[in-house]
Amino acid sequence: MKRILILGSTGSIGVNTLKVLKELKDKYTIEALTVNSNIDLLEKQIHEYLPNYAVVVDEQKAKELQQRIGNKCRILSGEEGLVEATKNGNYDILLSALVGFAGLRPTIESIKRGKRIALANKETLVVAGELIVDLCKQYGAELIPVDSEHSAIFQCLVGEDKSYIQKLILTASGGPFLHKSKDDLKNVNLEEALDHPNWKMGNKITIDSATMMNKGLEVIEAHWLFGLNKENIDVVIHPQSIIHSFVEFIDGSIKAQLSVPDMKLPIQYALSYPDRFNNEFTHTNLPKLAELTFYEPDYNKFECLKLAYDVMEEGGISPCILNAANEVAVSKFLQGNIKFLQIPETINKALLKFENHKHPDLETIYETDRKTREYLESTF
Ligand code: NAD
Ligand code: MG
Repeated sequence: MKRILILGSTGSIGVNTLKVLKELKDKYTIEALTVNSNIDLLEKQIHEYLPNYAVVVDEQKAKELQQRIGNKCRILSGEEGLVEATKNGNYDILLSALVGFAGLRPTIESIKRGKRIALANKETLVVAGELIVDLCKQYGAELIPVDSEHSAIFQCLVGEDKSYIQKLILTASGGPFLHKSKDDLKNVNLEEALDHPNWKMGNKITIDSATMMNKGLEVIEAHWLFGLNKENIDVVIHPQSIIHSFVEFIDGSIKAQLSVPDMKLPIQYALSYPDRFNNEFTHTNLPKLAELTFYEPDYNKFECLKLAYDVMEEGGISPCILNAANEVAVSKFLQGNIKFLQIPETINKALLKFENHKHPDLETIYETDRKTREYLESTF
């Protein structure tokens, strides 16, 4: 029996993880569930999945839930609660599925204990990739991607020597605005941006998909996970989201991983690797797929994707600035306070404001994240 700690159990990845675990009760137990503030859903999850304890970051909500639930389950609170769970909890695998920068600290605590990290929270690698890779080596922690593209690449690389890789090719659906012109993008609204054609996900990543910042963050994520540079990481638009990514090898052979879009598959693989388990997920019916198409991305229209490539090449603290600025801009867009094309504008503004420096330590990363947010908040 492996014990799982889930960070972000009420989110889209968290809920899918619980669906996976429900079918694998003979193999996994749940150590703890953690959430930001959605105690109604967490309460149901506690009754159904019986974790040993839970964490609610919002202190008020934590008290409210503890009163409701009595001594059925212990509720920890605050960011300290998250750190307490990851640092001292009794678990084998961390499913890291918080959204945004908030995932960094608890994920690091888990790495320092040499755990397996099933990583959905791509922002952790974007803001602190160099440090995370070093810490994993130092503490013997295992980073297994949950993101479908990286899971695809990871699966294509099983049994392969990394020196044979020519190129990673990440697929992107192109999001809801694939067929709009840059001019059209000036006036798209929130409802249109949230209407993703293939995936049902949390709001932040759905907006990131509409701007294609999600693919940009994934390019940086791939850089750290697989140790390749800009010249060896490509993006191709594939609107059907059936091929989750490709690896091209030096002899010209290309491997791909295919399945109908369903995050339960990469989640299960990150838990089961190197094994595979039978499941009831929808299996892919090839003749039914009709056609699979591919296009070059338009870097002029999707400026966020270009910005992410640029900061990856610069390295240092720039990706942390880009990430913080993106989180601020997406949150403003979700609140209806800025327009769609102000998202890349905001990121550009932050990147111009702060100087880059190489090999930042953790303190510098926290400080830069805070300063970037403060600066942008003062300019709106
Ligand atoms: P979501 O918004 O649906 O859920 C986020 C979860 O994190 C919730 O449980 C919430 O309570 C918790 N949370 C949010 N802010 C927090 C904070 N400050 N402190 C503690 N907990 C907090 O997000 P999601 O779509 O499940 O995405 C989670 C992560 O997985 C993101 O990094 C995303 O990029 C990545 N990811 C998601 C998908 C997907 O299909 N949804 C696919 C690939 C990668
Ligand atoms: Mg992805």
